[in-house]
Parts: sequence; C-alpha cells; structure tokens
Amino acid sequence: MQVFSCPGCHQLVFFANTACLRCGTRFAFDIDRLSMVVLDAAAQPCANAGVAACNWLAAGPGERCASCRLTRTRPADDDHEAVAQFQVAERAKRRLVFQLRTLGIVLVPRDEETGAGVAFDLLSSQQTPVTTGHAGGVITLDLAESDDVHRERVRTKLSEPYRTVLGHFRHEIGHYLFPVIVGDTDLPEVRALFGDERLDYQAALDRHYREGAPADWAERHVSEYATMHPAEDWAETLAHYLHLRGVLETAAAYRLRVDGPELPGPSTTSLASDPAAVDTSDAGALIDAWLPLSYALNAVSRSLGEEDLYPFVLSPVVMDKLRCVHELVLRAATASPVSTSRRELA
Ligand SMILES: [Zn+2]
Ligand SMILES: [Zn+2]
Ligand SMILES: [Zn+2]
Repeated sequence: MQVFSCPGCHQLVFFANTACLRCGTRFAFDIDRLSMVVLDAAAQPCANAGVAACNWLAAGPGERCASCRLTRTRPADDDHEAVAQFQVAERAKRRLVFQLRTLGIVLVPRDEETGAGVAFDLLSSQQTPVTTGHAGGVITLDLAESDDVHRERVRTKLSEPYRTVLGHFRHEIGHYLFPVIVGDTDLPEVRALFGDERLDYQAALDRHYREGAPADWAERHVSEYATMHPAEDWAETLAHYLHLRGVLETAAAYRLRVDGPELPGPSTTSLASDPAAVDTSDAGALIDAWLPLSYALNAVSRSLGEEDLYPFVLSPVVMDKLRCVHELVLRAATASPVSTSRRELA
C-alpha cells in the first residue's frame, strides 16, 4: 500500500487514521484522489464513521463511502459484540476496495435487479450459522472470523499456515472477479492451468474433506485448499496475487529493498529485490522482486520468534497461474468500465 500524509502538515499518517497527531487536522480518505483530504462543509465523513469506524469520505452529503456502500447486510446497532467484529471486517474490506482501485478495478454496489456489482453480507454467527463464501455477486463473511481467538482456533484445526480477514476478502473477491475478468476466449487457457471450474463442486468438497490434499499438492497449488476445486484454485491464486502486489507496493512506498545476503559461493538465483524499481506491468518482474523480499521478510519474522510472514512456496506451476491472473487483471484495468461488464457463468 502507498503511504499517506497529513493534508495539513504533510506528516506521515496511516490508512486508518482520522486526524493528525502533530497538527490536529481532521481528515478522511478520498478514494478518488487516493489521498487524505481535510474535512469541511464540502468534504463530509462517511455516514458509517461511527458504526463501522470508517475513515473514508462520504460519496455524497449524508451518504456512506464507496466501501461501506458495498455492504448490504450488517449487524444491528445494539448488537455490540457483532458491531465490534463488523468494524474489524470493514477495516480489512477498505484495504481490499482500495487495492482493487489502485489496480484499476472499481467495485460497485450490487444491482439487485440485474445482478451486476458486488454486495457484502457481514453476518454474526452467534444465533444462526453463517458460511463464509461467494455466490452470484454476494460475498458473505462470518464475523466470528474477526475474532482472533476463533480464527486462530479454526486455522489450527484446519492446519492452515495463514488465515486473516483480509485474506478471506481477497479470496472471495477472486470468486466474484472470475466471470468479470475472464472472457470466453480466455477460458481454454484458464482451464488448462486451473482445471475446469464447472466440475461438480459438492463432490469435490466431499472428496477434499474425506481424503485431504494429494501428497504432492505443493507442486501445482499455492495451498492445500486450492486443490479442492478449480474455482478454489483460482480464488486462492488471485488472493495470493493481491498479497504479493500489496506487499510489494508497501515495500516500494517505504523504499524497502533487499540487496541479498552475502553468500560464500556464487549464487544461481538473484537474492536482490528493489520493489520501487519494478515494472508492475511485468508479471515476471513482480515475481522476481517478490521472492527475495519474501525470504528477507520471513527471516525477519523468524528473528522475532514468529512464524514466516509469508508461509508459502511458489512452484513454477503456481507462478504460471499468477502470471495468468496478472494478465487478466491488467487487461480488466484498461477495459472500461470493468464494473458494468459482469458476465454470469453458464
Ligand atoms: Zn498534520
Ligand atoms: Zn465508510
Ligand atoms: Zn472459495
């Protein structure tokens, strides 16, 4: 993610901030300008500033912001526990909406009549069960995933190396984007890489939970879950693409670079990475910058006694899938407007 500065005094501020600690200026994030703007009569905060702890600019007087408007269902105001979880989810969702915008993909609220656009149902599973997932442009999140204890318990139970609310959103938006950015003529190549997304989903799900992932899954998939069904492979890969782009953009903004550890012998692979210098239209360059950076970040994380920051290995096949996702995202960004060209799956 890019860095932000106070519109009053230009001090460094962060994505979730609402005021400058140095000069006291109150500001909000403007998705159209991708910067913080001073709040005044013409620039009003999102109507969900309170309930969603949202720091974005309202889309219009008295309205919600471009991110909050995508949320179709949320907990009742007096359900305090669920509202606290909802705020955590909305914070992650704003990162998603922001990142997609920087990649040229504009999410618009779902039109209930045409089915175009995307809606988020952020639901508490306190009373009734909620299944996190995507169907027909509606992304559902079980708000229990905002609770660290719950999420960590599930992560451990499923032996997942990584589980975050932002990760859920990046995965589910992958499902949503499939019919949006994959054209009919792309399907043969996409199916050759990921498999046929029309495969019986329930049968695949049953098999996955009965047998687990094949022993050699890492040769072709980025995660065990990706082996479950071609549609899950696509969503997992797209989520990883967004992880990679997000971290590289942050590294570039902070001028973080890796010159590589000094090794005694000649190295066959480059261990240097300069994210700020990467041609972001080139998938190969992005991956080349990603690998040394992720090795360094993992080593730093281990130095704090934590697990790897990025606990995944990208095999050559997975890199091919990432290249495919990259090309499709790049093309979607230049086609206009991506948000209105939603194509339903047959
Ligand atoms: Zn300031
Ligand atoms: Zn908002
Ligand atoms: Zn999925």
